[in-house]
Amino acid sequence: MVTQKINAADAMLKVMADWGIDHIFGLPGGSFDSTMNALHNQKAIMRYIQVRHEEVGALAASGEAKATGKIAATFGSAGPGAVHLLNGLYDAKYDHVPVLALVGQVATGVMNTDYFQEMNENPMFADVAVYNRTVMTAEQLPLVVDQAIQQAYKNSGVAVVTIPTDLGWQPIEDHFEATANLFQMGNYPEPRSTDIQQTLQLIKEAKQPIIYFGQGAKAAGDELVALSDKLSIPMMSSALSKGIVADENPAYMVSAGRVATKPGVDLAEAADLILFVGSNYEFGQYFFKPDAKFIQIDIDPTKLGHRHHVDVGILADAKTALAALLEASEPVSEKTAFYRAAVANKANWDQWTASFEDDPQTPLRVEPVFKEINQMATNDAIFNLDVGNVTIDGVRFLKMKPGQKTTISAWYATMGAALPAAIGTQAAFPNRQVWSISGDGGFTMVMQDLITQVKYQMPIINVVLSNDSFGFIEAEQDDKGQPHSGVAIQGADYGAAATALGAQGFTVRTLDELKAAFAAAQKRQGPVVIDVKIANERPLPVEQLVIDDQTQDPKAVAQFVEKYRAQGLKPFRTFLG
Ligand code: FAD
Repeated sequence: MVTQKINAADAMLKVMADWGIDHIFGLPGGSFDSTMNALHNQKAIMRYIQVRHEEVGALAASGEAKATGKIAATFGSAGPGAVHLLNGLYDAKYDHVPVLALVGQVATGVMNTDYFQEMNENPMFADVAVYNRTVMTAEQLPLVVDQAIQQAYKNSGVAVVTIPTDLGWQPIEDHFEATANLFQMGNYPEPRSTDIQQTLQLIKEAKQPIIYFGQGAKAAGDELVALSDKLSIPMMSSALSKGIVADENPAYMVSAGRVATKPGVDLAEAADLILFVGSNYEFGQYFFKPDAKFIQIDIDPTKLGHRHHVDVGILADAKTALAALLEASEPVSEKTAFYRAAVANKANWDQWTASFEDDPQTPLRVEPVFKEINQMATNDAIFNLDVGNVTIDGVRFLKMKPGQKTTISAWYATMGAALPAAIGTQAAFPNRQVWSISGDGGFTMVMQDLITQVKYQMPIINVVLSNDSFGFIEAEQDDKGQPHSGVAIQGADYGAAATALGAQGFTVRTLDELKAAFAAAQKRQGPVVIDVKIANERPLPVEQLVIDDQTQDPKAVAQFVEKYRAQGLKPFRTFLG
C-alpha cells in the first residue's frame, strides 16, 4: 500500500484529534518547534490556545477535564516550560482527571550533553504521571501519544510524552490508526444481591442514617435523590461534589469539615450509619462516629475500607448500585424524625445566611456578592472556584442547579486554579456562562492570564473577593494561637488593572456599586473583572461550633448569636445531646 508522508508531529496531532481533542494550551519554545509547526499546519483540527504561563495551561487543561470528563491537553518546552507545567498536572492527578501533557526536549543529537535547557525530564514527571515516556523515533510518535491517551483515561490521570524536537520534523508514513474508536472502559461488576439486602437491613435498623456521596456519584444524581426520598435518608457530599444534587433539595446539607455548612457538620456528626457512595473523603475521621455502620460503594477495590471500617463493601458503579438499592427497597411511609430535623436544620441555616444578603456594611460581606452571582447565573453556568476562604464561601453560598457545574482544586488545593480553569472550561463550552471566583491571593498568582481571556475575547466573569489577606491561613494561625505572620498582602485596584490589560474592570466597595457592576457585566463582550473589597472576616467556623440552646449555656449561645448578628433567628440546633 502506498501512503503519503507526513511529519511525525502532524501525525501526532491527528491522533489527538481522533480522540476528540480539538485544542491545546501552551507556550512555545525552541525545543517544541516541530509541534508548533504542526499546530500551524493542522489548525483545522487542532486549535492552539496561547497562555502566558505553562502552569496556567496545565491548570486550564485540568479544569477542562474536570468539567467535561474528557481528556484535555497542554504543553511546555524543555526545561522551564516543563517545570512550570508540574503544578497544574498535580492538580489533575489529585482530582483524578485525564490530561495529556506534551513536553519539549532538545534534539536527539544533543540530548545527554548538558545542552541549553536540556534536562532529564522523565524522573521529574515520574510521580505525577500514570504514563511517562520519551519518544525514541519519529515513527513511534503517533503510537506513543495514542497509548498515552489510553493510559490517561484508564487510570484517570496525567500522561506525559516527551518529544525530542527533531523527531517531530521527520516525515513518516501517514497510516497510523488511533485506537479511539476501540477504546472501552472496563465493565464494573454488578453489586451482589446479598450486599444489597444486607445494606437495606442495616439502613432499616439505623436510627440516624445518612447518604454521603463524592464525585464518583456524578452520574447518579437522580438515583441519590430518589433513594433519599424513598428511604427517608438525608444527604451530604464532599465539597468537590457540590452540584450533583441541587442545593435547593431540602434534604441535601452540602458538606462537612471546614469547607462546610453547619447542617452538614451536624449531619456527619449525628450519623449512626453512613452510605458512602463514590467518595474518598479524607477528613471523615474527624466527624463520623468510629462505631457508625459504614456501607461503601466504590469501583476501586483498593478504596474499600480506606477511610473508615466498613460493614458492607460494594464494588460497583455508583449509579448501578443505587439503582439496585432502589429496586430492592420498600418505601418508608412517613419521613422519620431524624430526616425532618435535618431538613429543619438546613432551612434554619438557609434563613440565617440569607439574612446577610442585603447587608450594606462596608467593607462588604460576601453574602451580597453570592446573591448577585446566583441571580446572574444561567441554568448551565460553570463556576470555577479558587482555593482559600473563597472555597468555603462558594461551597456555602452558591445555589447550584442541576445543569450547572463547578470545578475546584479539591484535593491538591492549589491557589490560583480558578482563572485558568475558567479559560479551560470556556474553551470547552464556548456558549456557556463561565465564572472564575477567587480571593485576591489566588487571583494575583495568575492574573497575567487575563490577557489570554482578552486575546480570545472569552466572556468570563472573574469575581475577586479582596480582603488584603491570605485569610484561610490567617484563620489557621488564629486557631493555633500564633500571631499573624506573613498573611497580610498588599492590596491593589484589580478593576483598574483589568481595564489596563484590556478587560472590562470594576472595583466595588458598596452595595450599590456591587449591583451596578453586576448589571454592567450582563452586557459584557469579552472578559469582566469585578474586584469586590470585602471585610477581612473569617467565614463562620461551623466545624468548631456546637450550638444548642437546650443543652448549652444560654449565655454562650446568646454571645454567639450576637457575634454573628443572628438576632431574631433561632440558633442552629445539633442532633447531639
Ligand atoms: P475523590 O477523592 O476523587 O474520590 C472519588 C471516589 O469515587 C474514588 O474512591 C473513586 O474510586 C470512586 N469512583 C469513581 N468513579 C466511580 C463510580 N462510577 N462509581 C463508584 N465509585 C466511583 N471537602 C470537604 O468535604 N470538606 C472540607 O472541609 C474540605 N476542605 C477543603 C479545603 C480546601 C482549601 C480545598 C481546596 C478543598 C477542600 N475540600 C474539602 C475538598 C476535598 O478535599 C474533596 O472534597 C475531597 O478530596 C473528596 O473528594 P471526593 O471524595 O468527592 O473525590
